Amino acid sequence: MKPVVVAPCHRPLLGRLRDLPVVLRISDPARAAEAVAAADEFHLNLTCVYLETGGELADLPLDGLPETAPLAVRVSASGPMRRIAPRLDRLQRLNARFYLPARTRAQAAEIRVLSSLGLHTAALLVGPEPADWEALCELAVYSCYNAAPHGDIDPFSFIARRYDLHHLPLDPRAVWFEAPGKFVEADETGALSAPRFDGGLEPFPLAIEELGSEAVEIALNEARSSWREFFITPHPCQACEGFRVCLGLFAAEAGEGCRGLMTEALEGAERAAAPRVAPVEPWQP
Ligand code: SF4
Repeated sequence: MKPVVVAPCHRPLLGRLRDLPVVLRISDPARAAEAVAAADEFHLNLTCVYLETGGELADLPLDGLPETAPLAVRVSASGPMRRIAPRLDRLQRLNARFYLPARTRAQAAEIRVLSSLGLHTAALLVGPEPADWEALCELAVYSCYNAAPHGDIDPFSFIARRYDLHHLPLDPRAVWFEAPGKFVEADETGALSAPRFDGGLEPFPLAIEELGSEAVEIALNEARSSWREFFITPHPCQACEGFRVCLGLFAAEAGEGCRGLMTEALEGAERAAAPRVAPVEPWQP
């Protein structure tokens, strides 16, 4: 299996990525269409264009964003709803997932509102601010149990969609392109690095031209199973039910807070995967 290469949109590099699955990083929304065209020109297997802006969603320039190409748009916050509302129709037409920080109650509320407006979101659950676990749990419950139509809230929607008792564990880092053994990062020179389960990066021992080789397959398998290191020495994650869909995502702050959150996500996924029971026909007047 070839890893997905997360790479800058740098033409000399793109020529080396032919036929590989690629996430193309850009920081300027005006370059989104150019990135999609370059993926086509260089025969990349485009997973998505990853637009990382430092601004708010309310300020995202929409002119020039391709409507059908897969977009991952990372913003710092949603911004005021009064400025999002007039552009909602255009935002909804994009084939986009919007990535927002999700640590505080206010951030969780923003994601919930965007989801209720039909936008697909991804909650960036790891961050420097103290986490409001209760608010994040409420977000997971909303994502898993709210029957009213709403956009995805990843990683909870991702976990619920992919959950399969026979194919665990499930790594939520895949949502933000950091799952070990699935993604590698390339810089402009083509040097590769690999994500680790602790959120860091380490040099990848092989070159772009070797991706797809047996040696790479072995390296990726090792990276995918390196979560077992959590069980070498005593660690709070070892006794956590949510580990099957978390793999130590919050290992640096592991405790009751994250445990409650990921157990909620797991139970929501189990419910989604359970065989549907026909609802009881209600009595008729
Ligand atoms: S939820 Fe917390 S305790 Fe449980 S596996 Fe994840 S990081 Fe570890």
